[in-house]
Amino acid sequence: MPFFDSHCHFDFADFDADRAQLWQRATALGVQGLLVPGIEPVQWPAAQVLSRQLSGCYFALGIHPWWISKIATDPLALQFYAYQMSLLLDDDRASEQPRCIAIGEAGLDKNIDTPIDQQLDLLDWHIDLANQFHLPLIVHSVKTHNELIAHCKKKSPLYGGVVHAFSGSYETAMQLIDLGFYLGAGGTISYGRAHKTRNTFARVPLESVLLETDAPDMPLYGEQGQRNSPENLPRIAQLFAELRNESLETITATVWGNNRRLFGIF
Ligand SMILES: [Zn+2]
Repeated sequence: MPFFDSHCHFDFADFDADRAQLWQRATALGVQGLLVPGIEPVQWPAAQVLSRQLSGCYFALGIHPWWISKIATDPLALQFYAYQMSLLLDDDRASEQPRCIAIGEAGLDKNIDTPIDQQLDLLDWHIDLANQFHLPLIVHSVKTHNELIAHCKKKSPLYGGVVHAFSGSYETAMQLIDLGFYLGAGGTISYGRAHKTRNTFARVPLESVLLETDAPDMPLYGEQGQRNSPENLPRIAQLFAELRNESLETITATVWGNNRRLFGIF
């Protein structure tokens, strides 16, 4: 059964020493693909290079909310990043095997100092680009689901998207699904104390779920402080199957179809 890691920062330096071997082990376990999110403009070309080096590796273009305060975000800078994005996309789409399948990760986060209005401006910028390039949007949302929902009711990503590493209530999850989002489930479901999120993922429609590791972050329960890796995706799928009382085959086949629908790959 094939797995796709829909959110994996496999370009991070954490993997520099053993990336190729690790990917070999992950593919041997059935992980046939992964998606490397965009973090900031200077990282985009490297993500593209990685996607061409590793079979099954795809990438996205975007500015992670944690990086907003580290780069220039005046209107001229944003115009320039959008231009850079279009050049990379043109180059990618002209290649034999296009690898850029999403915009993001964009989003909102109440745990950082960047004012929420500034984060919302950047989210809006990403939605425009996703719509312009006909791509889905990868969203990071921490304690900001209400703001995200309110914003997307005014302007939503027309080609869908995923709220990655979703944690929250069933009601919030269903509102996001109604707006066209998939929900990313990862290591959080392995924590017994994550009652709310486990309960949500036990109940939401399976057709709206993607699985992810968010490696090197989001380690599974019992492995806190260790580097997470795409090799753990089959374990997340198994935990997810147990949580829902469904077979691993059902989970894997349905989630594979979800990735195909959202990202237009395979
Ligand atoms: Zn991420």
